[in-house]
Amino acid sequence: MKKADVVFINGEVITVDQHFSITEAVAILDHKIMAVGKNEEIKKYIGGETKIIDLEGKSLLPGFIDAHLHMAETGLTKLAFDVRAVESMEDMIALLKQQTKDIPKGQWIRGWGFNDNRIKEGRMPTRWELDEISTKHPIYIQRSCNHILSANSYALQLAEIHNQSEPLEDGEIEKENGIVNGVLKESARMKVLDLDQYSEREYLEAIQIASKEFIAAGITSVHDLGSKFPKHMIMMQKAMRDPDIKIRIYGTVVSFDNTTDAIGQTLEAGILSGAGNDRFRIGPSKLFLDGSLTGRTAAMKDGYIGDKNNKGIVYLSQEKLHSIMENPHLAGCQIAAHAIGDTAVEMMVDCIEHVTSLDNRKNHRHRIEHASVTSKELLKRIKDLEIVVIPNPAFLYPFGEEYVNNIGERAQSMFPIRSFLDYGIMVAAGSDSPVTEYNPIIGIYELVNRRTKNGLLIGPEERITIEEAIKIFTYNGAYASFEEQTKGSIEPGKLADLVVIDQSILRCPSEDILHVKVEMTVFNGEIVYVREPNSFVSTSMSENV
Ligand SMILES: [Zn+2]
Repeated sequence: MKKADVVFINGEVITVDQHFSITEAVAILDHKIMAVGKNEEIKKYIGGETKIIDLEGKSLLPGFIDAHLHMAETGLTKLAFDVRAVESMEDMIALLKQQTKDIPKGQWIRGWGFNDNRIKEGRMPTRWELDEISTKHPIYIQRSCNHILSANSYALQLAEIHNQSEPLEDGEIEKENGIVNGVLKESARMKVLDLDQYSEREYLEAIQIASKEFIAAGITSVHDLGSKFPKHMIMMQKAMRDPDIKIRIYGTVVSFDNTTDAIGQTLEAGILSGAGNDRFRIGPSKLFLDGSLTGRTAAMKDGYIGDKNNKGIVYLSQEKLHSIMENPHLAGCQIAAHAIGDTAVEMMVDCIEHVTSLDNRKNHRHRIEHASVTSKELLKRIKDLEIVVIPNPAFLYPFGEEYVNNIGERAQSMFPIRSFLDYGIMVAAGSDSPVTEYNPIIGIYELVNRRTKNGLLIGPEERITIEEAIKIFTYNGAYASFEEQTKGSIEPGKLADLVVIDQSILRCPSEDILHVKVEMTVFNGEIVYVREPNSFVSTSMSENV
């Protein structure tokens, strides 16, 4: 009989199989799971060369799957200046002045993670404030939602944005008394971002940084929701040639500036979603329907608290949405849309109803990304149309109070996961990193607790169980990319992507879930991360067997 490369014993093995079986041991051979069962059953796979890992009661789960994040951006933020902690404009100006003083003139200065709701002034910086940092460098500061930025005068000049610039339909160049103040929303910000091209080296470095961090968080697969097409697609595929990059990517066909072209060109080239292999696969054709709730640009039927007339920004008309999505649907692709406000979510439901009326293709798994404010009336239609929703439970942790401030009572039923599951709707989840931390434990904690960082409880009736939360971050993520036959659960024949938690996650009190840690990550049968080396990996026969 063949012997295993690695055997895990004495664990709380959470298989996430059809019956959500819990067992004790797993054997791995080559890149795959060889056998799963009780210690006694798995012992027979131990040979002289087998590495034995005694889990001492800790949880072993399928590797986490983050079904919505931005991989290159996550890494690129590490190459920009982090302004998340600043408390005032003065603070930020002083910080960046200090940190950027050695950057040669003419080079870009980029800041990320700015949140106007956290600083004294309660607004984005103006061009004039950024000019205080430097007038010799083009500068921009991205808001934490990544939908809004502020640029200094130099950057505005390079982007040819001036007081006479035409107003935009799907974005806003903010003005004060007719003068451009540097704040650029939605599509307007692309005029600046398009100029600031990262080099190929920076891009690859960013993907490398992100992959290392993901693995340390137990994430073995991600759905990348892109940035600039085709660059992000090319860079991710190039990155996959680097043997040090240990991650599986489902790469979306999308572009922050011109997603219609991205979708059209991909179809013209004859590339459909699903193309690729276990490491990199082409994902859905995706477009943006609205902005963000914290930036008050998500498309909301009843507007915002204190500003009822602001209904957010809708990127395109219903007719345009239909015409863009018909082709990929008819060609056999998965389609997806960023839809946060209730107006946007309904638009995408209408669109999927429309395209499936043209061709009632089964098993399309079309996706709604975020689905943040989904009215109860839509739940039955979402179920009947077999739509997969990809909410972001971890958003509640840092942004919960802002949601309450911006949309009041409606915040309570945001991300209605309990309702989705009760209706039989398929739910996967994503961190939207770098918008929030990629750590899936925060997402799982929020699914179970729905408490903000400051302890505010939001819509407790939408809480779910720890078992359901684990399934959302594993099996359901695999389902959302049509890969549940090869990953997402611990079953013989599946890819050996696994994560060890430092305790029993099922017996952990729900309020303490936030503090559980990833102790080890296995990717493709290889141990790629150990939190404390020497803690429990032995290569010889163990006493416990
Ligand atoms: Zn996103």
